[in-house]
Amino acid sequence: MTDKKKPIPAGETIGIIGGGQLGRMLAMAAARLGYRTIVLEPEPDCPAAQVANRQIIAAYDEPAALDELAGSTAAITYEFENVPVKAAAELTQTVPVYPPPRALEVSQDRLVEKSFLNKAGISTASYFPVDGDAELAAALSAFGGSGVLKTRRLGYDGKGQRVFRNASASDVAGVHAQMGGVPLILESLVPFVREISVIGVRGQDGRLAAYDPAENVHHGGILRSSTVPAAISPETASKARETAFAIMEALDYVGVIGVELFVLEDGSLVANEIAPRVHNSGHWTEAASSISQFEQHIRAVAGLPLGDTTRHSDCIMENLIGDEASRAPELLAEPDIVLHLYGKAHVRPGRKMGHFTRLKQP
Ligand code: AMP
Repeated sequence: MTDKKKPIPAGETIGIIGGGQLGRMLAMAAARLGYRTIVLEPEPDCPAAQVANRQIIAAYDEPAALDELAGSTAAITYEFENVPVKAAAELTQTVPVYPPPRALEVSQDRLVEKSFLNKAGISTASYFPVDGDAELAAALSAFGGSGVLKTRRLGYDGKGQRVFRNASASDVAGVHAQMGGVPLILESLVPFVREISVIGVRGQDGRLAAYDPAENVHHGGILRSSTVPAAISPETASKARETAFAIMEALDYVGVIGVELFVLEDGSLVANEIAPRVHNSGHWTEAASSISQFEQHIRAVAGLPLGDTTRHSDCIMENLIGDEASRAPELLAEPDIVLHLYGKAHVRPGRKMGHFTRLKQP
């Protein structure tokens, strides 16, 4: 087992569970710091494996694959929050795993996440667990007929969600079955004026840092753009940073975290969700900060000092979704565009194929 107090020496190998674009950008940042990477991902030739040193092609919870990963790496991290908690916890017997598996546990279940946030003194939407139509009807009536119904687990990009406004009894009939008969949560509808996120990082020495909050626009539940700076007051920005810090402290966290927040009319904040990983709304840091969220994460995982989170330019990051990736040549003809394509072989509607950041000179 690697000594946690000493940084992982360059030349050693970091394991990444998950092979999507986030893993790809982590592997690229690791390579810049002199590390090798092994990606565990069932899909061959995935975006991360194209730039990593090696891929183990297996399910995220296959014991032999996890043993092989643990036996070949100095530390393990992950690029998505649905890594099986049991697998991550078992890996910690052999090799450090960052962020800690407790962060996975908290972020995998919206009910556990909300109660964790409230215990840490952070406001969220009000909520009720819902396991049937009758409970849904009761919860909706407590919220005056409106709310957002979500699956407790495995929801992302707005999938597994339904919004109710002025709902009546007939609107809830059969809904639990339509949502897959799985455990659900009804959240009160938050009257936000904007959505922001903050990317925080905590080192192994407990040092905390955060980037400026980004203002996010979603369409159909998928992030379209992140603008920095967000149109918020300095007080709201510092509250957002403090929220990320409080969450990281409470989890004894190591690595980068994404915290999504709703901003209310009066500038106060309501936490929506946390992602214990690098985050789409932090991709702009690649272009507008000297040290990106990806490098920060690798630094934290490797026990290196954290880098500067200062932003040198205002910017907007936009995702390239589906066939929008064909805009690449025209975007590259523009000045001040930093483009990133993910190497995905197949274009599908709604699939994130790349992103670009437009730097705005002050
Ligand atoms: P989520 O998957 O939880 O990030 O939700 C996707 C999007 O749905 C968010 O970015 C919001 O735009 C909207 N949303 C989610 N929860 C709520 C809520 N409780 N109140 C109002 N809007 C919400």
